[in-house]
Formats: sequence, structure tokens, C-alpha cells
Amino acid sequence: MPKYSLIVPVYNEEKTLPELYRRLKPIMDELDGEAELILIDDGSRDRSVSLLRELHDQDSRVCYLSLARNFGHQIAVTAGLNFVRGEVAIIMDADLQDPPELIPDMVNLWRDGYQVVYAQRTSRKKEGWFKKFMAYSFYRILKQLADVDIPTDTGDFCLLDRQVVDLMNQMPERNRYLRGLRSWIGFKQTAIRFERDPRFAGEVKYTFRKSLALAINGLVSFSKVPLRMATYLGLFSALMSAIMAILVLYWRLSDTHSPVTGFATIAIAIFFLGAVQLVSIGILGEYVGRIYEEVKGRPLYTLAEIKGFQR
Ligand code: UDP
Ligand code: MG
Repeated sequence: MPKYSLIVPVYNEEKTLPELYRRLKPIMDELDGEAELILIDDGSRDRSVSLLRELHDQDSRVCYLSLARNFGHQIAVTAGLNFVRGEVAIIMDADLQDPPELIPDMVNLWRDGYQVVYAQRTSRKKEGWFKKFMAYSFYRILKQLADVDIPTDTGDFCLLDRQVVDLMNQMPERNRYLRGLRSWIGFKQTAIRFERDPRFAGEVKYTFRKSLALAINGLVSFSKVPLRMATYLGLFSALMSAIMAILVLYWRLSDTHSPVTGFATIAIAIFFLGAVQLVSIGILGEYVGRIYEEVKGRPLYTLAEIKGFQR
């Protein structure tokens, strides 16, 4: 049985895979126990799967899963976690934005007794200001709103002790925000700081839409504050309408003769109320939709191919 399991989700990464293996190999060789590399193909449409096959033929420590379609990054990592055999799991991206050279340091911290070692970005190289700004604000908002303390600027690059992996695998939820679940679990956790490199090759797979979906997922899965916000908005409009009513009454009774020219007020009030209602329904919908998804109880993913686990 291997001691270390490296989990790497792969989605159309034909350009980065050879380099990924080249950089990971010496690190796997140097670790003090046997290491396995679990690659999860997330329904790639390029040559990634045949590259995985080649890597497996070359090096028996490489095993891979192929999901039957694209299920998304978080589910791909979840699938990998389900297949971990080592005492330690290390999750990282395939595009070498998470430097593999950090792994020995993470392992040292694990040996010092930490069950979770997560990597925290000090900076991101060569990413657009918009992405940086959105990420920066999102992590801070999430920290404010979430029920658990989710550290800022951490991604999925982390080391997990077997105990934590088993607990993660027991969590049935399908809207998985792994960095949140990781914090929720507790145990002794520590950060290791690093500079996030630019992507080695290929395109970013997280489009703006996917990133936004992940962000909403994180918020909704770890906070009920948005629901409460709907209540607050409602209370606020109630207060405003009360003030308005008193004002109108006052104008009517006092003989200032200022005719209440109503159109603008009425129009704005209607749109304001409409907006409040729609936003509240939308927020409610996010939560209800999630309940619906959970209740269906479908499996998290379907597998097309599994290779290398029966050594
Ligand atoms: N990925 C995946 N499925 C997806 C999208 C991405 O498995 O639907 C993988 C991808 O191959 C990479 C990692 O998730 O290993 C992170 O993706 P990317 O580098 O595009 O995102 P970012 O670095 O912007 O978070
Ligand atoms: Mg990346």
C-alpha cells in the first residue's frame, strides 16, 4: 500500500501533463514512503486520457480514473479522494500553478502533527486584475459571512491526513465546496504560504461563469446570511413605506398646498419593491434548488474507466 496519494484533476490538460509528471517524479521518488499519483480525467476532450494511459504504462505508481463526462473540478477531486489508499492525500492542480516542490514541506508539517496543511497564496503571478480583485473580495466576504472560519486566499492545494479524507468521503453533499468542508472538519490545521505561479500551458478551465458558480456555492453552502438579508430588505422596505405614509399624510393635512406629484415616487416604489421581491425569491431559489439536488440522491459522478489501483 502506498503511503502518499497525490490527487490531480485533469480536464483538457494535454499540454501540461508531461511537464506535470516530469516535475512530480523526483518529488515522488524522494518521499520517505511509496507514493501513488491518482489522476482524474474529468471528461477531457483532448488527448489527456491517452496521455494518462501512457503515464500508467511507464510508471506503475500512476493510476487514473476517467469520469464519464465533465463533472467539474470539485467532483473530480472528490472522486480522487474516494480512491485514496495512502495515509496522506495531497490535492493539487494539473497546470503547475501549485508548485509540487512544496509537497515535502507539507509532509514535514504533517509529521509535526497537523492533519490538514493548506497552501495559502501570498500573490498570484500574471493573472488579470479583475480575477484578482474578484477573488480578493470574495474570500473576504465569505470569511465574514460563513459559519466556519474559512481562511482567505486558499485554494484546493492541500495535504489531508487519512482521518480527514475518510470524513470527507462520508459527507454526502453534492454541492461540494471542498475548501469549506476542509475547514468545517476541524482538527489541527495550518497554512503554508506560497506564490501562485502562472499556468504552465493551455487555457484556464475555470471560466468566469464557473468561478461565479463556485463562489455562490461556497456562500450558500456555508452561510444562511443571504436568507436573512431577504428578511432585512423586507423590513427596510416596510420602514420606508411607513415613513412615506406619514409624510403623505402630513402633506395632505398641513396646508402647505404642495401638490403631491406622485408619478416618480410611485414608479420608483414599484420598481424598488419588485426588485426586493425578485432578489429574495432568487436567494430562496438558490437554497431550495440545492435541497432538490440533494434529495434526488444521484451518485456524485459516473466512472468510465479505472486503472492501476489493483497493484
Ligand atoms: N478542472 C477539472 N474540471 C473542470 C475544470 C477544471 O478537473 O471542469 C481541473 C483543471 O484541469 C486543473 C484544475 O481543475 O487541474 C484547476 O483548473 P484551472 O487551472 O483551469 O483553474 P484556476 O487555476 O483558474 O483555478
Ligand atoms: Mg489553474
